[in-house]
Amino acid sequence: RAADVRAERIPRYVRVNTTCWSTEEAVKTFISRGYQLSGPFEEKYAAACASRLNISGFAKDEHICDLLLFPPDTQLSDDSLYREGKIILQDKASCFPSYILAPPTQDRAVVIDATAAPGNKTSHLCALMNNQGKASPIRFCLFAFERDRKRFGTLKTMLSRARCQNIEAVNADFMTTSPNDGRFASVTHILLDPSCSGSGIVNRLDYLLESGLHSYPQWSCTPPCTLTNLIEAENPEENEERLQKLASFQLLMIRHAMKFPSVQRVVYSTCSVHAAENEHVVREALRTQECKAGKFRLAPRSMVLPTWQRRGLPEEMDTPDDAESLVRCLPGEDATNGFFVSLFVRESPVPEGDH
Ligand code: SAM
Repeated sequence: RAADVRAERIPRYVRVNTTCWSTEEAVKTFISRGYQLSGPFEEKYAAACASRLNISGFAKDEHICDLLLFPPDTQLSDDSLYREGKIILQDKASCFPSYILAPPTQDRAVVIDATAAPGNKTSHLCALMNNQGKASPIRFCLFAFERDRKRFGTLKTMLSRARCQNIEAVNADFMTTSPNDGRFASVTHILLDPSCSGSGIVNRLDYLLESGLHSYPQWSCTPPCTLTNLIEAENPEENEERLQKLASFQLLMIRHAMKFPSVQRVVYSTCSVHAAENEHVVREALRTQECKAGKFRLAPRSMVLPTWQRRGLPEEMDTPDDAESLVRCLPGEDATNGFFVSLFVRESPVPEGDH
């Protein structure tokens, strides 16, 4: 398999699963194993790994609480903490969508993860909701949709390992789920992380490999060895058409989410670096009838991880403020895989009783 040098600079991110224990307990455990807690993650650890020096440092992430950073070559996928669901191996950028959606932690709020498998963002949502709530009666809970049967099986396994108890997993197509179905009348928050080209992924596909959701092709490609490059190596002529198909589907998902009568917040994310799947999809969504009639707008930067410096591409959006509302991550530059996150919010809250 061809290596991508950018992957060597990505720390091993560990999300502490707070449905099982606290971050303080996790930190103490790692210290008792000989790891040293440092300040902000230091470049020297990445450099040390590259040169195979034995430095066992770790740090707390500055943007996502409950996320720890270890040197890039730290192996934890066989660790008992991982097998017991106490830690989740999840790239930092992939923690942004659930964090930005900011699911409620009190009664009378229902959340949908529309495209859930393998379930890292779902279990993150569950942790942010303090693992509270129940689907029956529906007052406060998390619905996790996954249309693919095999992936649905993986989702159930991952959620069970993460000890999530407030989730109703649904093996169904989100697009054919009626927003007028009584079960979803009080849905306020929707996470959309639909299928995409995966062009931002440069490493850390190990959780996909483990869950059987992805297998590395036997053939290699010209570095950077992103999934897209691997796929292009097989089907170069299909790439443009494939991106357009993905973008059309992604837009339909956003439009469908906006039809839910009580929805207040919709996060749309991808692990793609292509504007076609990111800024262009968001721009088109803002121009649709659903957005205008439902009065959805992009949340301002102040609501969307404001301290993260890399924002959307201004030349691809209608206004500079729209671009500022968007979060982008570039592999090789941001110590994460490539990623994109947007947050749509309803202009005015749905009045009580209209649910
Ligand atoms: N959010 C997941 C996570 O962090 O682990 C990754 C989601 S993956 C990018 C997209 C998933 O959405 C795939 O498992 C795919 O089968 C599923 N999917 C795509 N379209 C769907 C639809 N219309 N309804 C439900 N699931 C869908």
